Formats: sequence, structure tokens, C-alpha cells
Amino acid sequence: MELFTYTRATDADQAVSAATDKDVRFVAGGTTLLDLMKLDVERPTRVIDINHIGLDTVEKLPNGGLRIGALVRNSDLAHHPLVESDYAVLSQALLAGASAQLRNMATTGGNLLQRTRCMYFRNTAMPCNKRIPGSGCSAIEGDNRTLAILGASKDCIATNPSDMNVALTALEAVIVVRGNTGTRNIPIGEFFLLPGTTPHLETVLAPGELITHVTLPASRPQSKHIYLKLRDRASYEFALSSAAVVAEVSGGKFTFIRVALGGVGTKPWRSHEAEAALLHGAADTPTFRRAADAALRDARPQSENAFKVELTKRCVTHVLTLATQSASTRLA
Ligand SMILES: Cc1cc2nc3c(=O)[nH]c(=O)nc-3n(C[C@H](O)[C@H](O)[C@H](O)COP(=O)(O)OP(=O)(O)OC[C@H]3O[C@@H](n4cnc5c(N)ncnc54)[C@H](O)[C@@H]3O)c2cc1C
Ligand code: SF4
Repeated sequence: MELFTYTRATDADQAVSAATDKDVRFVAGGTTLLDLMKLDVERPTRVIDINHIGLDTVEKLPNGGLRIGALVRNSDLAHHPLVESDYAVLSQALLAGASAQLRNMATTGGNLLQRTRCMYFRNTAMPCNKRIPGSGCSAIEGDNRTLAILGASKDCIATNPSDMNVALTALEAVIVVRGNTGTRNIPIGEFFLLPGTTPHLETVLAPGELITHVTLPASRPQSKHIYLKLRDRASYEFALSSAAVVAEVSGGKFTFIRVALGGVGTKPWRSHEAEAALLHGAADTPTFRRAADAALRDARPQSENAFKVELTKRCVTHVLTLATQSASTRLA
């Protein structure tokens, strides 16, 4: 680990004004950043500790939505009564991630910006375009079993590893950020970037911009929320494939549907194709299968992960079955 200066910020403005260049990093829970610093993957010149700037509450908004501070810990968010009752897909996704100890440290802002688990990204002995632009991608001809089948490019096939981001995508969250030039609201669908030829650029955040909040639209009282995560072992493991669904069914047909996928995309993957196949369609297995086929139509598997195509189709079919089979409108 290289030498760096440490600054403890006491409010958001101080944190933002201390973040003067691209090699400055905010540290929240530290569960991603400190690992990567120890591996020499992240080499910040300055680390700004944002654990004492507040932004650690969950508030109901006048429009019925929810405002989540960037420093709210994943455990606190998952167990918040309003999240459990009105945004259950978020609670389920958070609790499917990492371990209890990690969730006690991990924050909303840090989870949004966690880095890929591609093994070559974390190994400085191997070429990786995301770590060193232009150096090459070791995964395309290498170990790519867990990597992306949607949204990849010839320069990077890494997945976004977050469970929370998949739920926030289905919930159409808005990311609120503050920089030296002011505040902006970024819909989550515009927040993450596809790798293209610049995989080192992962979001639209400018250097030094601080995530202050995540807002959610007003909840839909009749909607059913489900997050389903498929992985190599039952806990403490990243998704091979996951799906978040917010669904409303009336008279046996979908009247509202949001579908997002995890573990398969280079960013949290909203499936507009699945939603189009479901909306106004019958809530039955043939429709679910058509939606699953539509969601994976553009999948481009790598040498070791063709199994993810069928796995994800089954994940989508099963999550839709779960979302439509119970008389209850919510599954906590
Ligand atoms: C062993 C292990 C298993 C895991 N398993 C899972 C899993 O199954 N599912 C899953 O989803 N996650 C998993 N994780 C990842 C974990 O969820 C993330 O490490 C965590 O959410 C990151 O949050 P943090 O607050 O610790 O971030 P930090 O490490 O503090 O920060 C992460 C990044 O975000 C930046 N940052 C943090 N806050 C802000 C802010 N407010 N504004 C701007 N930038 C900011 C930092 O500069 C840094 O670049 C696992 C992690 C580990 C170590
Ligand atoms: S997939 Fe992306 S992160 Fe992994 S080695 Fe290739 S460029 Fe690096």
C-alpha cells in the first residue's frame, strides 16, 4: 500500500471541497476500498473519511417516496420498517449480500460504487483494461465463468457485483450527488456506464463528486416485491444470476412490472425486453418463459459461462412465479 494523506470530514461540503483531484477517494465502510488498497489496485493520494458527515438516516418524502442517506449501513437499511414494508425487494437484496458483519459496515453509497470481482482486476500481475486502460483483458481468454453475458465489449466483460443495485434498478432509484459545482439527481438507469472502449469509467460521477442520497419513488401498495439470487453456495457468495421484480397483477394480467437482473450484466441490468413481454400479458408460465427468452435475447456468453443463459431464464421464470403465486401482495 502506498503512502496517502488522511482527512476526516465533518460535513458533506467539507468532504467535497477536500476532494480536489481524481486520485482522492472517499472511504465509508471501507469493505471495498481498503481491500483494493491492500492489493495495490487502488492507490489514492488522499483518503477522505466520510463516516462523520451525517447522511445516515432514512426519511419519508412529502411525495410519498423515500430518501436514503449515503451513509446508511446496509443492515440498517435492510431492517428499516419502511423498507421492509414498502420496498421489500430492496430489503431482500441487501440481506442476500455478503455477511452480517460486512452489512453492518457497508454503506448505501459504497455499495453503489463497489468494484467488480473479476479476479484479474484484483491481480496486479495480470493485464486488465479496467485497472490499466489499454493493457488488455485477461478474462476474455481466461477464467470468465462468473462474468457478464449482457453488455460486454471486446475490452471488458466484468459484471457489476452488487445485489442492492439490482433492486434499486427495479425500483427506479435516483442517485443524488454533490460536487463543487452543485447538486444533481441522476436516475439509476443513467448512472452506470457500459464498458465499451473505456471500462475504467464505470459511472457518470465526476472525480470528487459525493453521493449524498438515494431516493425512491412512492411505493405502490398493490405491488409484490421479490429478489431471487442464484449462486454457488447459499450465503457469502456473489450472484451467478439474480432477478429483482416489482409486479402488480389485476384480473390475471400484469398491470405494472419492473424487472432487473444481476450477476449477468456489466451494469445492473434493467430488462425492458422482459417488461414489454409481460405488461398486459397473462400472469402464467408461458408468458414468464417468453419474458425470460426476451430478457436473454441479446446474451453473448463467454467461453466458460454459456450456462448463465439458461440459468438466468430459469431465474426470471421462477421469480415471476413467486411474484404472482401468493394471495398476499408483499413478501418480506
Ligand atoms: C467478502 C465479501 C463478500 C461480499 N459479498 C457481497 C455480495 O454477496 N453482494 C454484494 O452486493 N456485495 C458484496 N460485497 C461487497 C460489499 O457489499 C461492498 O464492499 C460494500 O457494499 C461497499 O460499501 P462500503 O461502504 O464498505 O464502501 P467503501 O469501501 O467505503 O467504498 C467503496 C467505493 O465507493 C466510494 N464511496 C463510498 N461512499 C461514497 C459516497 N458517498 N460518495 C462517493 N463515493 C463513495 C469509495 O471511494 C470507494 O471507491 C462483499 C464484500 C466482501 C469483502
Ligand atoms: S473483464 Fe474487465 S475487469 Fe476483468 S480482466 Fe477484463 S478488463 Fe479487467
